[in-house]
Amino acid sequence: MIPDWVLIVLATVLGAAIGSFLNVCIYRLPREMSVAWPPSSCPHCGQTLAWYENIPIAAYLALGGHCRTCRNRIGARYPIVEAVTAAMFAIACWYYGPGLLLVSRLVLGCALIVLFAVDLEHHLLPNAITLPGIVVGFAFSLFIAPGWVDSLLGIALGGGSLLAMFYGWLWLRGEEALGMGDPKMLAMIGAFVGWRMTLLTLVFASFIGSLIGVALIVTGRGDRKSMVPFGCFLALGAVVAIAAGREILDWYLGTFA
Ligand SMILES: [Zn+2]
Repeated sequence: MIPDWVLIVLATVLGAAIGSFLNVCIYRLPREMSVAWPPSSCPHCGQTLAWYENIPIAAYLALGGHCRTCRNRIGARYPIVEAVTAAMFAIACWYYGPGLLLVSRLVLGCALIVLFAVDLEHHLLPNAITLPGIVVGFAFSLFIAPGWVDSLLGIALGGGSLLAMFYGWLWLRGEEALGMGDPKMLAMIGAFVGWRMTLLTLVFASFIGSLIGVALIVTGRGDRKSMVPFGCFLALGAVVAIAAGREILDWYLGTFA
């Protein structure tokens, strides 16, 4: 029997390596490039990276955040994504223990990291993640929680609620408040977590979004018209719903009902 701490260390190392691949997806998907080929290169000078430059986090620190060849700065996004992915793998491995539910949560988590980073930078949510994500989430639900019926309801609620919001806003105000990627992203989340968690995700995402929106207006860095990358808030909302949704709901119902 392998001790738990060994599994968690292995999960952390695997997470850092997968985080390195997520960086490739984050850079290439919005540019419609293949994620499999060619090997990673410097975005400034095009020099193919040496094997040791692909070591997550350590290479960035060792090179002081600069390209070895052209000395241009490499974005902090690279080590941040690797560290966040490694931490997610460690925490999920500790929380769920080995099993299909762990795999399912990690697949969803990786998709959310990519969508968050791409939406933040490019204001778009690639179909290459959201559409296969819906299928994969449903496939997992054939074997584990929330079960396939709940998964289908999650897809319908996630996609339907944001589509209704999209068309409602268009009809009321004549403007697009959301992108068409957002309904697909929430449908994907719904496929993995079922309709209840999807509803919580939407509530938390809206709450986080309004907090940040108010903060931006108060600090003068945005106005009511600023385009908000709602996919970022959906990703954060889903994480909160999965990690603490039940506890927050119990507390809320206990306090206010
Ligand atoms: Zn370079």
